[in-house]
Parts: sequence; C-alpha cells; structure tokens
Amino acid sequence: MSRRKEKIVMFPFMAQGHIIPFLALAHQLEQTKKYTITFVNTSLNIQKLRPSIPANSSIHLLEIPFDGSGYGLPPGTENTDSIPYHLIGNLFHASLSLKPSFRKLISDLVKEQNGHPPLCIITGIFYGWCAEIAHEFGAFHAIFCGGGAFGFACYTSLWFNLPHQNKNSDEFTIPDFPEASKIHVTQLAENLRVANGSDHFSLFLQHVLPEWRNADGILMNTVEELDGVGLEYFRRKIGKPVWPIGPVLLSNRCQDQAGITPELCRNWLDTKPANSVLYISFGSQNVISAPQMMELAKALEASGKNFIWVVRPPTGFDINMEFKATEWLPEGFVERMKDSERGLLVHKWAPQVEILSHKSVSAFLSHCGWNSVLESLSQGVPLIGWPMAAEQFYNVMLLEEQIGVCVEVARGKSCEVRHEEIVKKIMLVMDETEKGKEMRKKASDIRDMVMDAVQYEKDLKGSSVKAMDEFLNAAFLRQEETISQVHQ
Ligand code: UDP
Repeated sequence: MSRRKEKIVMFPFMAQGHIIPFLALAHQLEQTKKYTITFVNTSLNIQKLRPSIPANSSIHLLEIPFDGSGYGLPPGTENTDSIPYHLIGNLFHASLSLKPSFRKLISDLVKEQNGHPPLCIITGIFYGWCAEIAHEFGAFHAIFCGGGAFGFACYTSLWFNLPHQNKNSDEFTIPDFPEASKIHVTQLAENLRVANGSDHFSLFLQHVLPEWRNADGILMNTVEELDGVGLEYFRRKIGKPVWPIGPVLLSNRCQDQAGITPELCRNWLDTKPANSVLYISFGSQNVISAPQMMELAKALEASGKNFIWVVRPPTGFDINMEFKATEWLPEGFVERMKDSERGLLVHKWAPQVEILSHKSVSAFLSHCGWNSVLESLSQGVPLIGWPMAAEQFYNVMLLEEQIGVCVEVARGKSCEVRHEEIVKKIMLVMDETEKGKEMRKKASDIRDMVMDAVQYEKDLKGSSVKAMDEFLNAAFLRQEETISQVHQ
C-alpha cells in the first residue's frame, strides 16, 4: 500500500523576489513525489501563478483575501512589483492583516484532514508570526530565506543596529557581526541610509525579524561550504537549526517576458570562442541611470570583448516603454555592435540560466542579487559586481573578500562611473591576467563545491541534501508527536 502524500503548506511574502524562490522550492519538493504542496498567497498573486502550474501538478494554489485600502494602498495592490517605492512600507504593514485569514486556512486544512496537521508550514521571512498558528495546530514551522546568509546577516544587523546613525565617519563596523569587514556608507541601500529607527522600514523589520526565534528552524537558499560565516551568525542569533538547502533555483522562468528566444541566444553564443563573452544583467528590478548606461556602452565597445547585455530603459523611465537606443547609447553603437557581431543587446529579459551555462560565457557583470550569484557560481562563471540595493552590497563583499570570485566595479544606481575604470575591471577578469586566471580557477572550484552539495546518492549525500533531510525528519518527528498526543 502506498503511503499517503504528506501536505506541506508554503506561504511567501507578496513580492516577486520572494514568491519565485518559494516556487523553486515547491518544485523541488514536488519532484520527490512524496508531498503535496499547498501554495498560499493573496488572490492576485495566485491568479498570476496559475498559468505556470499544470493541472496535474502536486502543487495546489490557494488564495486568501487581502484588502490594503485601510493602509493607504491603491485597489489591486498585492505585490511590491505593482506599487511605487514609497508605498512599499505600507504593503509591509498591511501584510500583518493576513493573520486571521491564514489561521482560518490552516484550521480548515486540519479539519479536512480529520485533525491530521500538515507536515510543516514554510513561510516567508516577514511571516514569523505564522509560528504561533502552526504550533496551535501542532504543525512544524520553518522560515525560508531566499537570500544568502552572509549578505542577509549584514543587512538585517544593519537594520537592527543602525550603526551609521549619528556617525561622523563614512565607515563603521557591524556591532554583532565582527566577521564582516567595515561598511562604507556607499554600501547602504537608499532606505537604510536614511533610516532613523522610527521610519516605516525600521519599525516593520524590528517587529517581524525577531519573530524568527519562534520558528522551529530556518531554511536558507545557500550552501554550507560557501556561506558558513553567515550561517553561523544566524545559528548564534536565533538559537534554532539553520538548514542551508541551496541552490534552490527555478530555471526557464518568465519565458513570455523574454526579449529573445533561448535558441537565438544559443545560436549567437555558438558562433563565439569558448570563454570569450561577457554577460551583463542587473536582475529583475534594478536599472542603471542614463549616464551610467552611456559609460557602460563605451566601456563594452572599448574593451573589444564579445557581450550579451540585457538593456532596459534607464532610471526614471517606465520599464515597459520602448528602448530608445539613439537617446541612451552612444551614436551608432547598436549598428557597430551588430555589424561586427560583437554585441547582442537583449531587451528587458534574457534566458539567463541558459546563457550562463554556455561554454562561450566567461564572466557576468551583475548586480549580485542572490539568485544571479547562485546561477553564476553553479556554472563556474566569475562575477564583476555592481550592487544596487538591499543586501547585494554584502553579497559582493562575500564574493570578493572571502571567496575571491568577484571584483566590484561600481556601487548603486546613481554613482558616477567612468568607462575607463569599467574597461580595466573587464580586462582584469576576462584576460589572461594573474587575477583573472585565479578567479576563473576559484569559480570552477566553487562550481564543483556546489555540485557536491546537491549530490544525491544513497551513501554519499551532499551537505544541502543532508540539510533538507534533517529538516524533513524534524518535521516528521513533530507530526508524530502531535498525532500521538491527539490519540492519548
Ligand atoms: N533573470 C532572467 N533574465 C533577465 C533578468 C533576470 O532570467 O533578463 C532572472 C535571473 O536568472 C534570476 C532572477 O531573474 O533568477 C533575478 O534574481 P536575483 O536574485 O538575481 O535579483 P533580483 O531580480 O531579485 O534583484
């Protein structure tokens, strides 16, 4: 007789950058064929996901109602991607109103299963409050963080301690994370730089992040051997198990947004020699300023390297508007790159995972969002870092100072950059310099390390596979305890 599939409830915060890693984790769990996944979110987010989940999937989408009107949000606002930046804090606070609906949802699920609790409830980093609900019904509760441990440790600690407040110096240390080197003010996201402890963001984060301690454990999309220092920070701070289960990655996402087909990309890359192409992308949310774009284009031309560049309208322009190459790029740039077949400009969205896995790609100029970092390292591709926001600055610190697979080229969306400096960094990484050779060797070692972490053989499991086993075993144990208490 086959064992019935246990139910796992997953509930990410309402932002694309949070929902996507959760979906990747849901797919990973689904592939084991041992679980059904109840994927919970607000109505509009679930409707957006529906087309990407086949009807016969073990992932079941479930909507909970949300009304942000009492929090100053326009109608239909259920995701950070649909609001101006200044309203994001309102959405954060409004998300706390989901508590009664989520409790009812869990209560209904438990009733449907005749009192049998779900195996576990995995929630987003801002939903530590779900621990109380999970425990009320005897379920195991874990938080899943899609970011890297080192970067996130620096970021959360900075929000808690605000060490840059009232300091005359431009540099400061992070009080409870001495393992990180000094932080410079230019390494602070814009909202963090102006935070004073009573702003929207500080108040929210200082309220929700301590709730991590109520969870039974934390899952992180990272690898023990790569990110041990950051993982230790969280183990020390939270006093609960922290399981690095990464890389959890979702390939082939958003093909409908793509400015080019994967085939065309592959065909173009096939014509280039091995290790000769620079890939440039700033992720799904960030854009550079018009002057920065101009300098980057000049640098790419002057470097003489082949490149694929995902271009978007610069800061201040609607991301969906037509890309005005004649205004934002040097005169004749597009034609010259096309005629020489040196550069491929892709509008808005490229098949990144496919590109990074091609043997012609030699380096990635990236904002160093954590998914991009994992995708690059999984392919052994070194990075040229241009962090823009949130914890990206500290991801670069980890990659450059501790791992040695990255050099930083610029910081932020408004800093002044000079094309000569960008060229130098491109040459340093892509040419046969000592540094370049060393970075490529390290990147290739890291790729092997990541492969080892996800290795799955009966007697030879990698660290990420073991961490996932430990987490699931802990959840099964809790479920057995709950069931035996009910039957006493
Ligand atoms: N991505 C992509 N094509 C693009 C831009 C981004 O496929 O043109 C994907 C990329 O592969 C990664 C994600 O979008 O998985 C971006 O996530 P990341 O954490 O790097 O940065 P964010 O977009 O959250 O800032």
